[in-house]
Amino acid sequence: MCNNHKNMTTTRVLSVPSAKAPFEKTTIERRELRPHDILIDIKFSGICHSDIHSAFGEWGGGIFPMVPGHEIAGVVEAVGTEVTKYVVGDRVGVGCFVDSCGECEYCLSGEEEQYCMKGVINTYNGLDYDGNPTYGGYSQKIVVTEGFVVRIPDGLDMDVASPLLCAGITTFSPLKHWNAGPGKKVAIVGMGGLGHVAIQFAHAMGAEVTVLSRSNNKKEKALEFGADHYFATSDPATFTELAGRFDLILNTVSANLDVDAYLSLLRIDGTLVNVGAPAEPDKYQVFSLIMGRRSIAGSLVGGIRETQEMLDFAAEHAIAPMIEVIRADQVDEAYERVLKSDVRYRFVIDISTL
Ligand SMILES: [Zn+2]
Ligand SMILES: [Zn+2]
Repeated sequence: MCNNHKNMTTTRVLSVPSAKAPFEKTTIERRELRPHDILIDIKFSGICHSDIHSAFGEWGGGIFPMVPGHEIAGVVEAVGTEVTKYVVGDRVGVGCFVDSCGECEYCLSGEEEQYCMKGVINTYNGLDYDGNPTYGGYSQKIVVTEGFVVRIPDGLDMDVASPLLCAGITTFSPLKHWNAGPGKKVAIVGMGGLGHVAIQFAHAMGAEVTVLSRSNNKKEKALEFGADHYFATSDPATFTELAGRFDLILNTVSANLDVDAYLSLLRIDGTLVNVGAPAEPDKYQVFSLIMGRRSIAGSLVGGIRETQEMLDFAAEHAIAPMIEVIRADQVDEAYERVLKSDVRYRFVIDISTL
């Protein structure tokens, strides 16, 4: 190690020097282990669509150089003096955030750190409480405090586990919160990185699952993932046939939808939950809510305890994202392919190639 602080860790990373620039292989320093810190040797890192928004500087305020990645799976390489949750060799994961204030009501609940009132510390493109930029999972090593690390159960392969840390919890949490389960009719809108996992979770929770996708192209696959029904939204007859059908619609698409049309598919008291955010505001008639006491809602990933529950649930029910493992030098190309929706259904970087 060639640095002044002998206990910092130099690590290879894939970094974007400025918005939309191609990735470069370079090195950064990971902080010296604090008493509750864990040094993780990263094995796989998933590519989330929000990595692309961030690396392209599309969400404003991008901190460059940037090392994206918040779907991290690896092995514990070293632990701080007071770590109790993990030992060297444990298989672990890190998701979208790496710290929170620990003092507000949402942190104290132990369930909702993602809604921390002081602002959660994002895994990358954020500033930690000392004002240092955070760098994510396109990296050989990362240091994270133990309270924000989850255990990857034995039944889950590490490459498959990594997308669950964002795509998995983003869909699991709202399905649980809005009680997807036996007797409930749930629609999943969109069948990409999020949607194809949402189908599997909703099915395993016992709900009757319908997939709403633009065309019929993904029908066969959707049924394999556990969907009971599949409808193409490009066919206007779909909206007539399914009127008033669903208790819950989980929208995983980040393009603007005809919100009124989707609200018309809800039963009385039904909820349309959004986990993908369109760049432009959605438009809808308030009457669409009033006429059926319906709700529009949103949901952001999930807390750490729930993320652990999600991984355990996935292992127990053999739920697995479908992935394409790529080399570190293929990430630019992978971004292009994600933008063209040319991925079935999640890219995962093999960090050993970095
Ligand atoms: Zn993500
Ligand atoms: Zn907090």
